Amino acid sequence: MTPPLDLSAFKQAFFSAFDRAPRIFRSPGRINLIGEHTDYNDGYVLPAAIDRHVYVGIAPRQDGRIRIVSVDFKGVHEGLVTDQGKSTLGWPDYALGVLAGFRERGIQLPGFDMLVGSDLPVGAGLSSSAAYSCAVGFALNELFNAGLDRSDMIRIAQLAEHRYAGVMCGIMDPFASMYGRSGQFVRLDCRSMEYHYVPFSAEGYALLLLNTNVKHSLASSAYNRRREECATGLDWVRADFPEVRSLRDVDESMLDRCVAPRDKVIDDRCRYVVQENARLLALCSDLEKGDMAAAGARMLQTHEGLSRMFEVSCPELDYLVKAVRGIDGVLGARMMGGGFGGCTINLLRTDIIDQLVNDLSRAYEADNGLPLTAIPVMTGEGTMAVDG
Ligand code: ADP
Ligand code: MG
Repeated sequence: MTPPLDLSAFKQAFFSAFDRAPRIFRSPGRINLIGEHTDYNDGYVLPAAIDRHVYVGIAPRQDGRIRIVSVDFKGVHEGLVTDQGKSTLGWPDYALGVLAGFRERGIQLPGFDMLVGSDLPVGAGLSSSAAYSCAVGFALNELFNAGLDRSDMIRIAQLAEHRYAGVMCGIMDPFASMYGRSGQFVRLDCRSMEYHYVPFSAEGYALLLLNTNVKHSLASSAYNRRREECATGLDWVRADFPEVRSLRDVDESMLDRCVAPRDKVIDDRCRYVVQENARLLALCSDLEKGDMAAAGARMLQTHEGLSRMFEVSCPELDYLVKAVRGIDGVLGARMMGGGFGGCTINLLRTDIIDQLVNDLSRAYEADNGLPLTAIPVMTGEGTMAVDG
């Protein structure tokens, strides 16, 4: 696990690159407790910001130029604030996409020097990309008093990822990064964009991510196929229930009538989504009551649904969930994210973590030929200025 970012080293790195002092902003990564593959079906998600961040150091320029450097990636991006193209380096594109979002809103910037740094693992499903885009948007807005609010910056971050990185991500990641709060999950309604904070103050309990360190190549094609399967099931329901707009409005009796008789696979996909929305709402009331055992049990049900009905798990994810379930002190575990790799999220008693990680790392490596990375996470605050 990457150590926490050393702020004075980061300032020093900015000074070495640009010969002056920066203002510093940061935006967190996110986890999602429950609510997987519900976002594009107009349903609910339950993310939280975590205590790991992407940092942006920035200082203004007046000559219309930009320079972007990263502590973690090679190369220097140099250009003009008015340039529309992408960078040959790849990683600056998120920042360039955010800059384009400012331009499209008619905001002219005079130029800047920027350094990006992070203590979030990249590509582990903690959404370092959204954290990065949100940190850049927030930094530009603050530095130049551009007058945008957090909702504008979320939208800009999402579009930056769509257009500049080619990833058709939902709104959840930048939303959680911007609006996260310590000790809370955010229940976000992906249809209305309404959100509520749900308390997570589990004395003695913790959240632990276990990274499989695999990303199967199936991930993006299967993602698209699942979206189509959900759309097909929805069409069949709508033939009988025209008032239905998305799987969000569907219940299991509608599936019994319109989908199950036609195709078992499509029925499984849709039924998982319908059940997952209901499960998420039930888990929110578990948390409100402080019933961690019930919340954990629902996480395990979600994993079953994702693995058997939605079929987006993989052997490594199933291995990790199976290995921890039943261990005294483990309340819940499930795969997190789109599937076919990445992390599991585990709800467990704090005092068993060291032993569990120790035992499981050895077994996982022996059985799968891959290292296991344990990432303990705490909920944390959304995007903010760090300094100055
Ligand atoms: P994740 O699950 O972490 O969001 P992505 O593949 O969506 O994985 O995004 C990771 C990409 O975001 C990196 O390949 C890089 O282009 C960009 N990125 C993340 N962190 C940094 C950083 N500290 N500096 C520069 N670019 C970064
Ligand atoms: Mg990402």
